[in-house]
Amino acid sequence: MIKKSFFVIEKNNGKVTKLPYSSIKEYLLLDLKTKIEKGEIKLRCECSDEIELKISNAKSPYLYNATRQYKHSKDCCRHPEFVGSSPYEKAWSYDEEKGIHIVRIEGIYYATQLPEIKKTNNKVKNNVIYHEGIGSNKGVSTVFGLATKINMMAWEGMVLGNKQRIPIDKYELAKHVYGMASRIKLSSKRKTLNEMFYKQVNIRTVKVKKDVYFVYMYVDHNRLIEEDILHDKTKKDILYCKDAFGKTNRFYVEKEEFEQKKRIEPHSSEYVVAGFVHKEDLYHKCMTLYNYCLIPVSDRGLYSESSHEKNIYDQLCKKELKFYKPYLPIEEYGGFIPDGLILDKRKDIIFEVFGITGMPSYDIRKKEKIAVSKTEKFKSKFNFKYWEINK
Ligand SMILES: [Zn+2]
Repeated sequence: MIKKSFFVIEKNNGKVTKLPYSSIKEYLLLDLKTKIEKGEIKLRCECSDEIELKISNAKSPYLYNATRQYKHSKDCCRHPEFVGSSPYEKAWSYDEEKGIHIVRIEGIYYATQLPEIKKTNNKVKNNVIYHEGIGSNKGVSTVFGLATKINMMAWEGMVLGNKQRIPIDKYELAKHVYGMASRIKLSSKRKTLNEMFYKQVNIRTVKVKKDVYFVYMYVDHNRLIEEDILHDKTKKDILYCKDAFGKTNRFYVEKEEFEQKKRIEPHSSEYVVAGFVHKEDLYHKCMTLYNYCLIPVSDRGLYSESSHEKNIYDQLCKKELKFYKPYLPIEEYGGFIPDGLILDKRKDIIFEVFGITGMPSYDIRKKEKIAVSKTEKFKSKFNFKYWEINK
């Protein structure tokens, strides 16, 4: 049995409450921290009676193992080698002491991996996982898997964190993506993703094919790809993007590859461009996006898997409802990952946006989800709501 929860033990009456590690509200953590300091409660991991948990002092607090001599068991999600079963877990691990998420990612090194990435990127659909792990090896994430996860983490971080609200616009979300990146590290790099973030640099000081930066920006849909002509008359395609401050940035892309990436994600006219850039040639005037993805997003920047989902997210935003898009399985929901979760004073609401696909496997899953939502286990924690959308 996989362990993904911890226990809150009240000292005076021994009452035990089980809480999941993921998607925990910040004010709840701070409340627990105060109670620990007052000596009213104790926290311990589900995997072992010996592991007592504490809550960090960081600006965004997190749980960590307070006992160095005892380690989490291998089937506990807090074990550094734990491999989860869902796409957004498989390539990720967690450093509990530092509160940092570590991801294995494909193709940061240009020369050896690029041809293979180009080949796999030419597919009809984006994948979250590049390849699955075997044995104790973890899976490897695609850049799409990394970027969509940070997008959802940043949004969730705002709703569950000290802001306790949804972003006011896509630029505010992009600033939170930047902040969230300080808690993410690529397994092959010493720097955090935040430290790798692209800042406008003097291109002449950048080392060719050596300095690598991470980009997370919005494609400027009012400005088409333009051509740049280099001193030796070679032509380059320039993509215009806007960063978190609305400032324009330019990168080289291959126009055809860019259009193909757009074609496979047609759910919105608004895109995030995310991935890695480097300087490809000494004489280049812009950095080149060499391993990147396009993410279709809602008006306020949330990753949307279909146009129906985007419409619902936009509607919820107009109503200023507090909601987020979960990326990890929810135990009470039969291990499914819903399209969204609305926070509610009485009971949080899990929601789905069902399309009419004509795919039997989709309809079976839909029936299963509705059935799970009627179980006592589910109803003790959540309410359920769904939209059925006819094309
Ligand atoms: Zn544990």
